[in-house]
Amino acid sequence: MASLCGRIVLAAAKRNVTYTPVRFCKMMNDPIEHATGIEKRELLAKQAGNPDPFDMRVFKRGPGTKDSPNLIPSAFDARLVGCVCEEDQTYVQWMWLHQGQPKRCECGHWFKLVEKAPV
Ligand SMILES: [Zn+2]
Repeated sequence: MASLCGRIVLAAAKRNVTYTPVRFCKMMNDPIEHATGIEKRELLAKQAGNPDPFDMRVFKRGPGTKDSPNLIPSAFDARLVGCVCEEDQTYVQWMWLHQGQPKRCECGHWFKLVEKAPV
């Protein structure tokens, strides 16, 4: 954008035109006006006050027993979940969770997918 503005200024200076082309460089539209599809829905959800519409934040594990598993929201039939099994662990244990099939991590915590409305 900076090089485009520079070229516009240079072209205007060569033509001896009296108006200032800098005005055009400041007329960027709001990103929501250009966004389409899922990006637009994400921006609208953020504008409505939901900073994490796809639930990408790090969840704090609960008790994680078989009777009370950690609930992971998903709008799809499956979701990839990472578990940091121990506090000082240097890697993430990844696993696929499928709808209706609670799964136990290697550390013993249970996870279950719960249905969530899509964005
Ligand atoms: Zn784990």
